This record gives sequence, structure tokens and C-alpha cells, in this order.
Amino acid sequence: MTTTHPETLALHAGWRADPATTAVAVPIYQTTSYQFNSTEHAANLFALAELGNIYTRIGNPTTDVLEKRVAALEGGVAALAVSSGQAASAFAVKNLARAGDNIVSSTDLYGGTWNLFANQLKDEGIEVRFVDPSDPEAFARATDDRTRAYYAETLPNPKLRVFPIAEVAAIGKRFGIPLIVDNTAAPILVRPLEHGAAVVVYSLTKYLGGHGTSIGGIIVDGGNFDWEGNAARQPALNTPDPSYHGAVWTQAVKPIGPVAYIIKARTTLLRDLGSALSPFNAFLFLQGIETVTLRIKAHSDNALAVANFLQERSEVTRVIHPSTTTGQDAEWTRKYLPRGQGGLVGFELAGGAEAGRRFIDNLKLLYHVANIGDARSLAIHPASTTHSQLTGEEQAATGVSPGYVRLSIGIEHIDDILDDLAQALDAAGA
Ligand code: PLP
Repeated sequence: MTTTHPETLALHAGWRADPATTAVAVPIYQTTSYQFNSTEHAANLFALAELGNIYTRIGNPTTDVLEKRVAALEGGVAALAVSSGQAASAFAVKNLARAGDNIVSSTDLYGGTWNLFANQLKDEGIEVRFVDPSDPEAFARATDDRTRAYYAETLPNPKLRVFPIAEVAAIGKRFGIPLIVDNTAAPILVRPLEHGAAVVVYSLTKYLGGHGTSIGGIIVDGGNFDWEGNAARQPALNTPDPSYHGAVWTQAVKPIGPVAYIIKARTTLLRDLGSALSPFNAFLFLQGIETVTLRIKAHSDNALAVANFLQERSEVTRVIHPSTTTGQDAEWTRKYLPRGQGGLVGFELAGGAEAGRRFIDNLKLLYHVANIGDARSLAIHPASTTHSQLTGEEQAATGVSPGYVRLSIGIEHIDDILDDLAQALDAAGA
């Protein structure tokens, strides 16, 4: 497909019609296994001499369409779908960093990713060095000979400060280090690869799906990073891999294209750790993606209207939204989010934690859930839920004050959203 228009790619990329039945909708290939044509064919598939279906843990035709579609939307060369956004983040890092290595990550992360990095990867011998993204050079200062990747979220909540993708990607290029960007909160609005990122990860669970029915994740390979030219810095892709007959991934995949990173993730991490997406969920994500370009615009318009509304309310002491940032953050908002600022809004209530709880308890339209990115509007009070295990100091460091409320604004009619917020604010009091 030659077009780069996301509206068209979201409906067409990676698929025309089923070769077996001519079905227009992508069929759900609910199969574990695939009949080999001959022993030679089977041997070629296992040796990667020929690409094709072997076993659904490592690839499936329905999931393949999802992978092609998201890769096309991002301007990448290939993608790997997995069973959750968490698995996508973990694989994206583990594909490059081994015990004794480190990565440098922005401090502004989803709590689950923070835990993965600060505890899980640490237990595996991979150190994650956290730096404040407001100073891109902090990434350079935290880099040493064993740094294999930089990691960040485009639009991290609760702070909703846009990450300086191009600035940090350029620093990474100086060292031969790729930038991995979790773009979960800003699909369509930002294409991190265009700004120099090498890998994009998503929780499909959020805006790309949009329906709140399925958990999934995906990793997109930009095909734009010179792994071979940075061989000493990137040993995982440039030294013989004992888990695949000593394959050197940058060499082994040369006939296929610049896909060493994503092929390695599929043939080693997905094969060994098994976090496969079910074909049924791949189908559901394809349904969601068909409308993501329309939805993300509606989310952005509604959330901006909510941010403006909250600024006028006397009970609200602070509104957290890209439109309310100042200085350098405002500049980065203008640079990276000209197409819309996403669906997330945070605010602080003068009445603190108690008012936060009362506000949530009085919502009638908005759901009280831990998710974001659903087509429905959602709310949560982090201090009493997602962040309740943190100390007050830790909560403050992550941007969560006692009266902080997080909204994920949906695509309902804006009047109904504002009516519900107004009555819940009235009930919460100051
Ligand atoms: N990244 C971000 C920015 C998220 O918000 C989430 C989930 O909330 C994840 C990753 C993890 O995704 P999942 O819940 O699909 O594992």
C-alpha cells in the first residue's frame, strides 16, 4: 500500500481479501498449527530459510494482519504482537539488554512499567537508570559502555508532559543507542519513528483497541537503526545467538530486510517466554483500529473541552493537560502534538483526598476503572487506588497529590461528559 494516510491504512494495510475464501473481513485463524508441504518445507521454515506459519505461539495469519497494519500506521518495517502491553515493554528491552547491561529510562512511566524496570528487570540483572526527561542530556550522562537502549513514554500520565523524542533519539544516535518509545497514549497523534525513535511499543488494550474488551501489546521495528554499524554497542544482535544455532541476527535476516530486531524478538523471546496474543483478540484489535483515527480526534477534542471546563471550577486548584503546560513543556507540546493532545486529563481538588473520593463516588456516566483509552469516559483517584502502596513522598515524585483525579475522556457527547463532571464536583464540594 503506497499511501501514508492513517485513515486509509487503518482500514486496508496488510490485507485485501482472504486468499482461500475471498472474505473481506480478516478471518480469525483459530488454529494452533499449520500443515507443512514436505519435510524440506518444514526444515526451511525452522531454519528461517523461508518465512511461513509454524505454530501460533510464534505467528498466526490473523495476528500477522494486525502486525502489518500497526507497522504501516507507524511507518515501521515490521511488528510483533504480544499478549499485553506489559509483555511488549519487557520484550522491547530484553531483546537488547542482558544480565550486566543497563538501559536509561525516563522517570515518567506507567506504574506497571516502573515496577517491571525497577524490580523485575533488576532481578534479572538488567539495571534501569531513571532520569528526568526535562533535561535530555541526562540520558547522555547516565550512559556507559553497557547501556543498550533508552526508554520513554510519549505522553506519560499522570504528569502529561510530552517527551522530547527527537532530542533524546539524537543523543542515542551519538552512542549507537536506540530510543524505544511507548506511544500508548498518543497513537495517530505522534509517530515516534518520524522523530528518530527506533522502536515503538503499545498497549493495544487502550486507544488502538478502544473497546475495552481485550488485553494486548505490540512492538514496531522502525527498520531505521544501524545495528550492524554499532556492533560493539549492540552485541545481542551482532554476536552468535546460541539459542538459534549461533545465528548472528543482523546477518541472518539480511535477505529479508532491516528486521533483525523484530525477528529476534519473535524467534527467541516469543518462542521461549510464550506471551502470544490470541488470534481472536488480534481480530478484535483490528476492529478497533479501523476507527482509531476518528476516535483519537474525538478523544482529543473532548479532553480539551474538559480541561477548559475544569479551569473555570472553583473546587479545582490545578488542571493537568498538555494545553496547560508552560515553557519548554509547552514548546514540546506544540512540536509533538499539533494533531491533538490525547484523551487524558488530570486535576487536583482543593479538598484533597476526601474530596477526590467523593467526586469519584458521585460520578454517574464516567466509569470508575483502572484503565485508560476506552471509548467510554473513565475516572480514577490514584492516591486511594493505583498509587496507594506508595509513600506520600513517592506519590508526589510520580505526580500524584492526595486530591489528584485522573480522567480518560471518551467519545460521548461533550455536554453529557461535562454535566456528569459538574454534578460530581458539586457533590464533592471544596
Ligand atoms: N504502557 C502504558 C502507557 C500503559 O498505560 C499501560 C497500561 O495501563 C501499559 C503500558 C501496559 O499495558 P497492558 O495493561 O496492556 O499490559
